[in-house]
Amino acid sequence: MKEYRSYTLRNFREIPQVKSYLSEEEIFDIEVVGNVLPFKANNYVVNQLIDWDNYLEDPIFILTFPQKDMLRPKHYEEMARALRSGARKPELKLVANKIRMELNPHPAGQLAHNVPLIEDVKLTGVQHKYRETMLFFPSQGQTCHAYCTFCFRWPQFVGMNELKFAMRDTELIIKYLRANPRVTDILFTGGDPLIMKTKILHKYIEALIDAQIPNLKTIRLGTKALSYWPQRFVTDNDADELLALFERAGKAGIHIAFMAHFNHPKELSTKIAAQAIRRIRNTGAVIRTQSPVMRNINDNARDWAAMWQKQVELGAIPYYMFIARDTGAQHYFAVELERAWRIFRQAYQQVSGIARTVRGPSMSAGPGKVQVLGVSEIGNEKVFTLQFLQGRNPNWVSRPFFAKYDPKAIWLDDLYPAFGKERFFFEDEYPLERKARLRPRPARWRALKQSETAS
Ligand SMILES: *Cc1c(COP(=O)(O)O)cnc(C)c1O
Ligand code: SF4
Repeated sequence: MKEYRSYTLRNFREIPQVKSYLSEEEIFDIEVVGNVLPFKANNYVVNQLIDWDNYLEDPIFILTFPQKDMLRPKHYEEMARALRSGARKPELKLVANKIRMELNPHPAGQLAHNVPLIEDVKLTGVQHKYRETMLFFPSQGQTCHAYCTFCFRWPQFVGMNELKFAMRDTELIIKYLRANPRVTDILFTGGDPLIMKTKILHKYIEALIDAQIPNLKTIRLGTKALSYWPQRFVTDNDADELLALFERAGKAGIHIAFMAHFNHPKELSTKIAAQAIRRIRNTGAVIRTQSPVMRNINDNARDWAAMWQKQVELGAIPYYMFIARDTGAQHYFAVELERAWRIFRQAYQQVSGIARTVRGPSMSAGPGKVQVLGVSEIGNEKVFTLQFLQGRNPNWVSRPFFAKYDPKAIWLDDLYPAFGKERFFFEDEYPLERKARLRPRPARWRALKQSETAS
C-alpha cells in the first residue's frame, strides 16, 4: 500500500468495507455528522487499522468515522432534516455553522490568545504560551492524513478559522527567537506538519539551522503520521530525504523531537509503523508519545498499559496523557477527571519504571497544563489534588493545589477551590471563566481578561 488515498464525505461510499458492512442508516449517520464535524480517513487506516468484523466497537473506526451520537440529538435532527429535504450546499453550510457555533469552537482561546508580536508585526501562525516553547503553524501543514473525530482543532478543518502564514515569515520567527532567548524549543504543529512534502519542511528547518540561534536547542514535530500514514517515513518518494533532514539537524546540534500522537495500541501493531519508528530513531531523532483519554476509544487501563509497553519496546518515550477538551463532541468522549486519574493510575502501576516517564492525566486549559494528581482526603474534606505541569506563569508549576471533590467534573472550569477558599492561587493573575455556571465577575478581572495577550 504505497499510494495514499484519502476518503471523505465525497467518496466514502466507495470504500469496499463500507459497502459490505454498513447499513444505509449508518451511512446516513456518517453523512449527517460529517456535514458538521470534519471527516477524513485513508486507505491505510481503512485496510490495516480498522477491524471491520467488529466495526461498531472498533476504536480506530470510532476515532476516524463520524458516529451518530457525536452530535446531540437536537443537532443531529437539524442536520438530518436538512439533508432529507434535499438542501443544497450553501443551505447545509448555514445549518452546519449554526450547530458548530454551539460546540465551543474556540476552547482555551486557541488562536486569538498568545499570538506574539515582533517589530509591531503580529505573528499569526505562532502561539507562545509557555516560556520555553513556541508553537509554529506552517501554512502548508494545516491538514492531516486522516482526522480524529475528537480533534479540538476541528473548526480549522471545516474552514471556521483558517490560518494564513506565508513562507517568508521564517525570517520573523528567527527574529522572534533571537529576541526571546528563553525559548529553547520550536514546536511545528498543525494539523500535521508531516503532511508537508520534504521540500517544504526542508526550507523551514534549514532556515532555522542556518540561523544558528544560540538558544534554539530543539525542533519538535507534533504529528500523527506514525499512526495515520507511516509510509511517510518508509515508502513515500521523499521519505529518505526527510530522514536525511533529521540527521542533518542532529549533526548541527539541534535535537529533533517527535511528539507522536498515538491513541491506541492498535496503531503500533503494523509492520510499517514499527519500521517507520526504527527509521526515525536511526537518524538520532527521539520519539515521545501523547494522547488524550477518550471514552469509546481508549478509556481503560489495559489499552494504556499495552500502549506504553509497546512504545518503550519500539524505543518511543511515553510523555503525556491528556483529558478530553471542552469542545466539539466532548459529551461523547469526555471521561470524568476522577475516572481519568483511575485509568492513569491503574495503567501506570502495570508498567515498569521505563514507561513511567508519562505524566497525566492533564488538562490543557487556559492557565496551563493541569495534572490531576489524585483524589485525596484531607481532614474531613474529599478533594482533588492538582498541579501545573506547565503554566502561563512558570512559577505556578509543581505546586500542589486543591479543589473540592466533584465526581462529575470533567474540566478545570467545573472545579472550585477546597477548604472554603474563594479562588485558586493562580486566579489573581488568571481568573477562570466558568461557562457552565456563569457568575458575575469583578470589573478588575474582566479588564485583565481583555488585555491578555502573549505571555
Ligand atoms: C503542551 C504545550 C506546549 C509544550 O509543553 P511541554 O510540556 O514542554 O511539552 C507548548 N505550548 C503549548 C500551547 C502547549 O499546549
Ligand atoms: S492528527 Fe492531530 S490535528 Fe489532526 S485531526 Fe488528529 S488530533 Fe487533530
